[in-house]
Amino acid sequence: MKIRVTPRGAARLLAHHPWVYKSDVLEGPNSPGLYPVQSTKGVLGLALYNPVSEITVRVFSFTDAGRPQEVLLENLRKALQRRKAAIAQEPVGGYRLVHAEGDLVPALVLDYYAGHGVLQVGSAALEPLTSELTEVIRAEIPLQSLLARNDQKSRSLEGLPLQIKPLLSQVPDSVMVREASIQYRVDLQEGQKTGAFIDQRDNRIRLQAFKGKTALDVFSYHGSFALHLAQGFEQVMAVDSSAVALRRALENAQANGLTNITPKEANAFEFLREEEKRGAHYDLIVLDPPAFAKGKRDVERAYAAYKEINLRAMKLLLSGGILATASCSHHLSEPLFYQMLAEAAADAHRTVRVVEKRSQGWDHPVLLNVPETHYLKFAILEIV
Ligand code: SAH
Repeated sequence: MKIRVTPRGAARLLAHHPWVYKSDVLEGPNSPGLYPVQSTKGVLGLALYNPVSEITVRVFSFTDAGRPQEVLLENLRKALQRRKAAIAQEPVGGYRLVHAEGDLVPALVLDYYAGHGVLQVGSAALEPLTSELTEVIRAEIPLQSLLARNDQKSRSLEGLPLQIKPLLSQVPDSVMVREASIQYRVDLQEGQKTGAFIDQRDNRIRLQAFKGKTALDVFSYHGSFALHLAQGFEQVMAVDSSAVALRRALENAQANGLTNITPKEANAFEFLREEEKRGAHYDLIVLDPPAFAKGKRDVERAYAAYKEINLRAMKLLLSGGILATASCSHHLSEPLFYQMLAEAAADAHRTVRVVEKRSQGWDHPVLLNVPETHYLKFAILEIV
């Protein structure tokens, strides 16, 4: 059984964008699975298919050569092989082993935390292959345990249940991960996403280059940037709205022998407003908010929210101060992100120099054909 798509769907696939939406699927099987895709003009590729999902077709090969399951597992194998050298170099580090579409294994995320794997399956076509996927992972990467963290809300759009279950041996509650000169504890079972945000790893390490008196890590989670900043700054405040995350920030500080991190439970918007009101100043501020734009419709509102926190941070910084600011929403494109920052600088009446434009780590690969894979923008700015 094949999937047939409209000329519009075919045009997307011919441009090597892997998704076809429900409205562009003319005909297909009744149940989820791996199938060839075609248009009236011929074969377009092999895809994960789920008739229930809005993103009905997710292509993982743009030819129809090979058996679909073998091709998909081969893509997985290649993704794992691309990370092997890094793991050999730092076996107790944190890496993304599979970045879904970016690795041509759509809807599959696999993170590695010091020898423990955390898997997220986001397609009903992939779910029945869990044991085959596990076999390939096990053969390629030495893992002490593997956990399926299938509790992401988007699974309900696929008609999949939300559940967390071990796939390989006993999974510990948490594990210590090394990141350059610091270490942090990852809560595998209950932490946000798969337990941590590895996409910012190289950006966190990059900020170790900066020194000064006071730094602010806003949207800190479990003290992520703060731990690195605490090595070069006298005082670091870690701000987050999650008390649970901040409790772990303090534990992480202790694990690194750091006594200069102060956790602060607050809504970042209110916190920054209050700091401005009381005339506070900082040498460095990190802003790493959650995705404010979850869909195209949110972009305008999200733009205003990003601008508000960046504007306030620019006002709080001393001259010569550094703003390290991120957006992980792919709906806010890179040009829009920098436009937002430029407007914030203008409204703050500050001259702001771009020190460095950065992005997500190398283990979260970007496909030029798939703008959605380039989601993380990270700017290091200097207040002149
Ligand atoms: N910087 C972190 C990741 C941050 S994820 C790292 O490198 O690991 C976003 C964080 O923002 C989460 O920890 C979440 O609890 C927090 N958060 C979400 N909304 C918030 C708000 N309005 N104010 C403060 N923190 C918020």
